[in-house]
Amino acid sequence: MKTKKIPLRKCVGCQEQFDKRTMIRIVKNKEDEFTVDFNGKANGRGAYICKKKECFEAAHKRDALSRAFSMKVPDVIYQELKKSFENES
Ligand SMILES: [Zn+2]
Repeated sequence: MKTKKIPLRKCVGCQEQFDKRTMIRIVKNKEDEFTVDFNGKANGRGAYICKKKECFEAAHKRDALSRAFSMKVPDVIYQELKKSFENES
């Protein structure tokens, strides 16, 4: 019998867990560079956020990404995320 496990990831904005395929991934590579990984394929350590503006705003306010990675995430990453939220709706 096959049981499909849905990979859940915690959102840095609302702290709830969701199917990671519905989320945006932010990745830190070995060189400590951050990228917004829209395809979910980049190598490195990842943090996840829902595709919701509220979550982005909550995360941005608390600088939740820097907490998740235990190092300062440059603001350009937030800017890039912000753009992706503004394109929607
Ligand atoms: Zn969320």
